[in-house]
Amino acid sequence: MKNFEFKNPTKILFGKGQIENIKNEIPNDAKVLMLYGGGSIKKNGIYEQVSTALSNHEVVEFGGIPANPEYSVLMEALKVIKEQKTTFMLAVGGGSVIDGTKFLSSAALYDGKEPWDILSKNIPTLKGMPFGTVLTLPATGSEMNSGAVITRADTKEKLAMGGAGLFPVFSVLDPEVIQSIPHRQLVNGITDAFTHVLEQYLTYPAGAKLQDRISESILQTLIEVAPKVLEDPTDYSAASNFMWSCTMALNGLIQKGVPTDWAVHAMGHELTALFGIDHARTLAVIAPSHYEYNFETKKEKLAQYAERVWNITEGSTESKAKAAIKRTEAFFNEMGIATKLSQYTNDYEGTAEEISKRFKARGWEGLGEHQNLKPEDAEQIVKMAY
Ligand code: NAP
Ligand code: FE
Repeated sequence: MKNFEFKNPTKILFGKGQIENIKNEIPNDAKVLMLYGGGSIKKNGIYEQVSTALSNHEVVEFGGIPANPEYSVLMEALKVIKEQKTTFMLAVGGGSVIDGTKFLSSAALYDGKEPWDILSKNIPTLKGMPFGTVLTLPATGSEMNSGAVITRADTKEKLAMGGAGLFPVFSVLDPEVIQSIPHRQLVNGITDAFTHVLEQYLTYPAGAKLQDRISESILQTLIEVAPKVLEDPTDYSAASNFMWSCTMALNGLIQKGVPTDWAVHAMGHELTALFGIDHARTLAVIAPSHYEYNFETKKEKLAQYAERVWNITEGSTESKAKAAIKRTEAFFNEMGIATKLSQYTNDYEGTAEEISKRFKARGWEGLGEHQNLKPEDAEQIVKMAY
């Protein structure tokens, strides 16, 4: 096991009716900026629950943060923070609203001229404006981690940021919120969380038995509850297991002491930036090709994954590992997710070269757990995913 430090300061309020308790988590004298997305919270009752809970707080609202939080919209929200002198933020939404709020948390205290530099120059955020979240879509884990991904339409970029100052102070996880989530977004959530675990688990054996087994448990739980959640989002037991699995998939715990990959996300982000494809779907497109391409260095963990997660116990290491890749792709396909880029766009020619060019320009010369994947390798992987 590798050396590690672990600190996760986010307080979780889990379960039915917990939205009400946010009033106790936000300082009484705070001026709160409540942030939300395209309006789903006004239709499913979450807006009312939050407003009631904050009836004794001073609250300013900013709605309209789009899926894949857009820089220009966030810059409007930043103006509101400065003009209204708000002191605390509450993100009510999925990964996009939460990530957008993290950007604002950082940008509000940033003294440079151009807040985009936080992303383009990879400036870590050690202190941000405090914020809490009410999660409405289990998927990203953003509610309990310190990372964010921001999109910029004018340059077709999607870049990540983070830092120890960007953990939410608290997050409410009420599994009842999933009742109103459209099927497409539920499937995305399952796929994103599943891939988060794979990024931290499908690397090479590092002797971290507990981390491996926690990862395998999250994968097994997602596989078990996926059909139940999709069939009946009012199934509270399935919803709670789904929700907590998504949070546990990316709250930092399973990546401690082990190598991590994250190349699937790096390539996937480019497909969202270029074509607007849903985040989770870009991962389902890239992942099978990535595991095929890096088969030799990943086959031992792939075979372990085959045995322990998919019960594929017969055959050689190679054959089990191959079967695991096929089974993973089938899992995505069975939920209705297409796993080839050409199923999303006719305009895919040249994408691999463009992504390789972008990685080169950013100096991304060593992706993956061995930090040896070059832009040329990414080019091959993306081509395999056409
Ligand atoms: P999302 O983009 O936040 O939301 C997708 C859609 O679902 C929106 O249209 C939203 O509508 C709707 N929605 C959310 N909750 C709903 C509910 N309870 N009922 C009905 N509709 C609901 O989706 P996401 O998958 O959570 O976030 C994706 C973003 O997170 C991507 O930008 C991705 O790159 C990023 N991400 C971040 C991390 C991280 O660790 N920070 C990890 C992975 C991915 P409204 O807009 O109307 O609310
Ligand atoms: Fe993700």
